[in-house]
Amino acid sequence: MSRKTILLTLEGHLQSWGDHQSKFIVRQTNSMPTKSGVLGLLCAALGVSRKEAQTNWLPKLRGLKMACRADRPGMRIWDYHTVGAKLSLHRADGKSRTDPLVTCREYLCDASFLVLLQGSPILIDQLAQALERPVWPLYLGRKNCPPSRPILAGITDSDADLLSILRSVPWRPRIEGEQAPSFLVCSLEFDHAYENDPCIYASTVVYDSPVSFEMPSHEARVVLHAALPVGAENGVPLATKPLQRKIPPPPRPRADYSDSRYKEARVQRMKSDHGLCVFCKSTADSVHHVSYKRAGGEEIPGDLRSVCRLCHDALTMIEYGIGATMDRVNPEDPRWRDLIIQKRQEILRFRSLKTQKRARSMAESE
Ligand SMILES: [Zn+2]
Repeated sequence: MSRKTILLTLEGHLQSWGDHQSKFIVRQTNSMPTKSGVLGLLCAALGVSRKEAQTNWLPKLRGLKMACRADRPGMRIWDYHTVGAKLSLHRADGKSRTDPLVTCREYLCDASFLVLLQGSPILIDQLAQALERPVWPLYLGRKNCPPSRPILAGITDSDADLLSILRSVPWRPRIEGEQAPSFLVCSLEFDHAYENDPCIYASTVVYDSPVSFEMPSHEARVVLHAALPVGAENGVPLATKPLQRKIPPPPRPRADYSDSRYKEARVQRMKSDHGLCVFCKSTADSVHHVSYKRAGGEEIPGDLRSVCRLCHDALTMIEYGIGATMDRVNPEDPRWRDLIIQKRQEILRFRSLKTQKRARSMAESE
């Protein structure tokens, strides 16, 4: 039966992989990503709700074989965390408390894991696509743990087993000259094929195979622990080619407006605005983009508004201030009116100050 393996890199400033023991006020993290945490991440990438996950997705996702390698085990840190200050949380005795509840949350700081998931080619391709373009934000075990690099590291249709793949992916230094560890700690799903492998040193039962996220419920699985020497190339050679990015990057505004379509749209817009600034009705000398979606030559007149220099500067200042991206500030939208007036006044004040200063320095030099 053919199978495929997806390679993930879980790396970030913080990660936290709670297991069935990390409940209530002391929330520890595992030293490795849990299967329930990783499958939860995949569900977020797919945009699958907790409810939908239980019936449609978890049965097949649980069937994936998982392996992890701690390329950087990270440093354990505890966070002082309070919950529900002045929210009157219910207490067991029926009364309520107004003082906050202190919870202790443990994190792995600066850790990096290589995670493999092996299964049917169709499912693996689907997951890779979802990770390329996740529906919901992805996080490393807890919502305050964003990944610091793209999670999808590659995909392979090699028929090799998980242990061989773990062996064949080289450990990479983060900075030049960084000393490699002598071995890497790994965990992988039990398979009889590994029984006589000298690198396997223990097996444990873990309860992290999720049956449901809504009312957390987990199945047990047997996990093998291995220590792989770094640099020992006893695995199969593996071509882990990164996925080709088929999705084009979002259009970026361009400064090159030599395109004739843009010129045409600009002329049309100026004509329909009677050559007047749509905001202050003084003579317009340029057009302002209210959308950058077609910027760079594909503009239609609806993407533009005729404006005077002063209003254009005011609009640009507002856009910088709010970090506008594709949708820009429309000077005809009444909600921007007061702010545009304010920015126009700021610019005028600044210009007059500059004029005064110039006049003064000229007077002094005479
Ligand atoms: Zn104007």
